[in-house]
Amino acid sequence: MACIFCMIANKEIPSSVIYENDDVICFKDLKPVAPVHILIAPKKHYDDILDLASAEDGAETMSAIMSAISVVTELTGLEEGFRLINNCREFGGQTVMHVHFHLIGGMKISEKLL
Ligand code: 5GP
Ligand code: ZN
Repeated sequence: MACIFCMIANKEIPSSVIYENDDVICFKDLKPVAPVHILIAPKKHYDDILDLASAEDGAETMSAIMSAISVVTELTGLEEGFRLINNCREFGGQTVMHVHFHLIGGMKISEKLL
């Protein structure tokens, strides 16, 4: 079955791309929950963060993601802070099975789960 984030990475379906390089694509969430809500995903498909963690190139990919977080934080003016979320599998509430991180900010987030 076609993966929607692979299709976004391959430009087969449109998205608002904030930043990309050979390894990572960062684009606006379709249904933002904050003034800034960017999805950060590797272009290569991994189902979820556990799949990424066990992959041979997982550390390399994670490093590319961390660099992209830093760039996107600067591009979107999140120096005052943000929340970075990964929902993993069914109990974590993951709905798109291509690993990604939600970078959320542009306001003070008051709800605290922990
Ligand atoms: P998850 O629930 O897997 O953590 O996050 C999936 C996110 O992808 C949701 O916040 C949802 O709004 C977003 N999303 C789903 N389909 C699309 C799409 O086609 N384009 C974009 N830009 N975001 C999407
Ligand atoms: Zn995919």
